[in-house]
Amino acid sequence: MESQSEKVLLFGPVFSRRLGRSLGLELVPKKVCTMDCLYCEVGKTNYLTTERQPYYPWDLIEEAIFKAKESQEIFDVLTFTGSGEPTLNLYFSKAIYLAKKHLSKPIAVLTNSSLINISEVKEALAGVDLVLASLDAGKVETFKKVNQPHPSLKLSEIVKGLKDLRKIMKGELWLEVLLVKNINDKVEELRALKELIEEISPHKIQLNTVVRPPSYEEAKALTLEELHEVALFLGEKAEVIFPKRSLKERETKGELEKKLINYLARRPATLKELSMALGKGESFLEKIIKNLLKERKIFEKEYKNQIFYYS
Ligand code: SF4
Repeated sequence: MESQSEKVLLFGPVFSRRLGRSLGLELVPKKVCTMDCLYCEVGKTNYLTTERQPYYPWDLIEEAIFKAKESQEIFDVLTFTGSGEPTLNLYFSKAIYLAKKHLSKPIAVLTNSSLINISEVKEALAGVDLVLASLDAGKVETFKKVNQPHPSLKLSEIVKGLKDLRKIMKGELWLEVLLVKNINDKVEELRALKELIEEISPHKIQLNTVVRPPSYEEAKALTLEELHEVALFLGEKAEVIFPKRSLKERETKGELEKKLINYLARRPATLKELSMALGKGESFLEKIIKNLLKERKIFEKEYKNQIFYYS
């Protein structure tokens, strides 16, 4: 039987557009975050805070890490991520050290960079293989517009934290810039952002846009051509990110249904994306989705002429 920690904290492995087979470890409940980004695919932030707390207790985190250790053959990377900001959990650094000690797979952290100046957070981040840190704006007004941060957060301090982290990083620091049409894609905004990125000097810059239903309707996507233009403008470290490969795993119908529901609880997805994420054919998945829709375990919604499923 699935343990409490496995049910709550570990998810996947799911196909990640950047990492391949990523086993997710969630350290905060949906949606505890320091920001309320317009484009967030998880939903609107219902607990906007910068207060670090044991949002999940240590014994659950510890159990989840040991569970991950037992199943290392099914994933390529353990990713601290989820439906909120993972560094908000008071046990974040302790969890990183435990995972590093016991796992032979690389460890990645997805963070919105907001708590990077807290020394124990920075030190823990500096020791992982990959930090995927967000920075969506070069100007304060744009930062407030696109990320709707907690009022105590300052763009200049976040940039300083990223610069400091880069200097002590043992692994790699990749900056993710999510571009929202007419909000952070204007020329003057991109110029300001480019300056900050040059100061930070990340190993890579990854450009993304709104590809799933956003929390706020005004968050619109750039076209692929526009993304490529921005990549050219930002220089040779910049790339537009795409799916890499699919997962192939054997499982029972019940396990597959559970995996699909868990995946959709964290991010809405199209049939095609689910097919890639779960390594199953679209027509096969369609039948499962139909049943889950009928049982009201998942739901559908149209966005930009595509059907997205969510749970
Ligand atoms: S995108 Fe990330 S940082 Fe922004 S609101 Fe969602 S979970 Fe928080």
